[in-house]
Amino acid sequence: MTGDRQVTPRRMKAAVYYGARDVRIEDRPIPECTAGQVLLRVLRSGVCGTDATEWRSGPHLFAVDRPHPVSGHVGPLILGHEFIGEVVESPGGGFAVGDRVAAGAGVWCGECPRCVEGRTNLCWSYTTLGLNVDGGMAEFVAAPEKMLAPVPEGLSLDVAGLAQPLAVGLHAARRSGVSDGDRVVIIGAGAIGSFVLAGVRSLAAAEITVIDFPGPRLDRALRIGATRVVPAGMNVVADTLAGIGARGADVVIEASGAPGQLATAIRMVRSGGTILLVGLPASPPEVDVQSLVIREITIRTSNAHVFAHDLAPALQLLATTNLGRELVDSVHPLDDIAEQLERLATGQLHGKVLFDPQRSTDPP
Ligand SMILES: [Zn+2]
Ligand SMILES: [Zn+2]
Repeated sequence: MTGDRQVTPRRMKAAVYYGARDVRIEDRPIPECTAGQVLLRVLRSGVCGTDATEWRSGPHLFAVDRPHPVSGHVGPLILGHEFIGEVVESPGGGFAVGDRVAAGAGVWCGECPRCVEGRTNLCWSYTTLGLNVDGGMAEFVAAPEKMLAPVPEGLSLDVAGLAQPLAVGLHAARRSGVSDGDRVVIIGAGAIGSFVLAGVRSLAAAEITVIDFPGPRLDRALRIGATRVVPAGMNVVADTLAGIGARGADVVIEASGAPGQLATAIRMVRSGGTILLVGLPASPPEVDVQSLVIREITIRTSNAHVFAHDLAPALQLLATTNLGRELVDSVHPLDDIAEQLERLATGQLHGKVLFDPQRSTDPP
């Protein structure tokens, strides 16, 4: 009937988290934009260690079993806090339909004291899509305009899909206070360790030693700019100090979350040096407080990223380095989510898996 408005089904496919080892592909309504939001067709969406921990033993952070204090969300949650997409509706006009954007995922208020001092990742009402409200592991997502950055012309979708985790690595590198000439040690050469390594390289002309188990991760660390690599194990402290000098490292960045690594970091940092913690240990670590106090070691921490400082620079870094080629493991349809989360949670993945929600099944 001409003249009638076409009634489209407004439904989409989404990967929904219910609890440990329970993620379901569901048919959901396409979200409606609220004030300040745009609707994105999701082009790539990634998973990280946070999702793997929730898959293995959650819910921990995910607002599934109790309401999130800011968003009020409670119940099964659409995954996905690392995504890029194409604008399909822009009611506020901040972006044009067809624009490709990368999402920061974390939403801040802009008014609380932490936001005013520029630390938007510590906003009193910080809410992250895919952790505290529905995220971007779906065909569509409604996202606030202010947490979107344009994808540079010519950057492939697979590479642009790394923008958010690289922003986290870049933020960690900033938090470490690294400067030219520093001897830096990074513990952990998985995805986050690799992003931190790239961040440190982009900020300072430093000598960077990377520690992990021998194998493809360390080989990759050398290809993306480590000065040297040291195999993890019994002799790791002695081997590291043999390379950088007995007085120790100016900065040690713990990016593995593995047990005992804070203690290892304390033994490798110089007097007056800095330890930056990015990795989240599964249980509270034992700390040699005496060694920290006597030698005036500074311990700093890093969480998420600051959109204004980190997201656009991360996209630029992806456009000018080999990181994308080195870090993307594979791209999958949404239906593979459980299988890939299991791979990630059991340590079988060295790089990043991405999902293309517009792809319905694996090609034959
Ligand atoms: Zn993540
Ligand atoms: Zn705030």
